[in-house]
Amino acid sequence: MIPRPARRAQVDAEALGREAVLAAEAVRNTVQFLWTVQHDAIRSSLTKTDASPVTVADFVVQALVVARLARDFPGDPIVAEEDATPLRPETADVLRRQVVDLVGQHLPGSDTESVLAWIDRGASSCGHRFWTLDPIDGTRGLLRGGQYAIALALMIDGMVQIGILGCPRLSLRQDVEGSLAIAVRDKGAWWAPLSGGSLTQLAVSAETRPTHARALHSYESRHGDVTEFNRVLRGLRTVEPPVLMDGQAKHVLLAAGSAEVLLRIPVDHDYREAMWDQAAGSLLVQEAGGRVTDLEGKPLDFTTGRRLLRNRGVLASNGFLHDAVLRVVRQRIVG
Ligand code: AMP
Ligand code: MG
Repeated sequence: MIPRPARRAQVDAEALGREAVLAAEAVRNTVQFLWTVQHDAIRSSLTKTDASPVTVADFVVQALVVARLARDFPGDPIVAEEDATPLRPETADVLRRQVVDLVGQHLPGSDTESVLAWIDRGASSCGHRFWTLDPIDGTRGLLRGGQYAIALALMIDGMVQIGILGCPRLSLRQDVEGSLAIAVRDKGAWWAPLSGGSLTQLAVSAETRPTHARALHSYESRHGDVTEFNRVLRGLRTVEPPVLMDGQAKHVLLAAGSAEVLLRIPVDHDYREAMWDQAAGSLLVQEAGGRVTDLEGKPLDFTTGRRLLRNRGVLASNGFLHDAVLRVVRQRIVG
């Protein structure tokens, strides 16, 4: 393997710019609050109309991050995954009370209506400039004891300008639990311990041999076609065991040089990715020197609203292996 370029310089947080610092603090602050809460208290869940789970943590994180963004960037719309609809019926009484109590611990003075209003403030439409938030990316991972991420991105004119990923269970260094990854367009990508500490630059792996590609895939087989994923790995003749992981923690590993390939092959051919599931992670990988496209090699197009209507699936890589993987994907899946 070619040695990794020496790009590990530490930077002053202020060099990231005010917007990235404030957005990163919104995520860090929220996770630090979650850490003070009994784990059981944030795991209570209900099932949404699309049959996916949503937990107390999803609603609490959305309320807290939105409230902070509204304070720091009062004019900016926020496009977030959740809304308060599942919390309104009487049958959701217990969950609603848990959410309101927890948000109230962090934002004293808030009541049921204001908490539901913070959550619903994430229902803005996508304009020229807005924030997009997945409060818990990988809810099933959170419930299972696996990875999950708080994913926040600033979108301007259909481009991701800032990407923040808070991964409470991801260790990029042995002595650190919880990683905060920050990407700023044209400036770079960094990580720091979620508990605080200095920033370290992220750089993708310099591996060029497809046989040595360490590949990442969703843990959930309903989110990505594992059979096709394994076929691609056979096509690459890779000898490395794949890693199955939830949410955009995968993008952080790729950006950190701990993996080379991330594939998302839709199980349902018509599935289109949600913007908040791809925005922060794609900028992070690109700013760490990697490449991100759909399965046909087209750049991700974030101009089509909440879903990426013009892309099918995702391939993120360290760049060196991108074309080799695309070739195998084309032969095996697209063609
Ligand atoms: P991952 O853990 O990488 O699968 O990412 C979790 C994300 O998958 C969630 O935030 C969901 O938005 C998204 N998701 C939900 N259902 C599907 C689906 N059928 N296909 C692909 N992704 C999905
Ligand atoms: Mg999500």
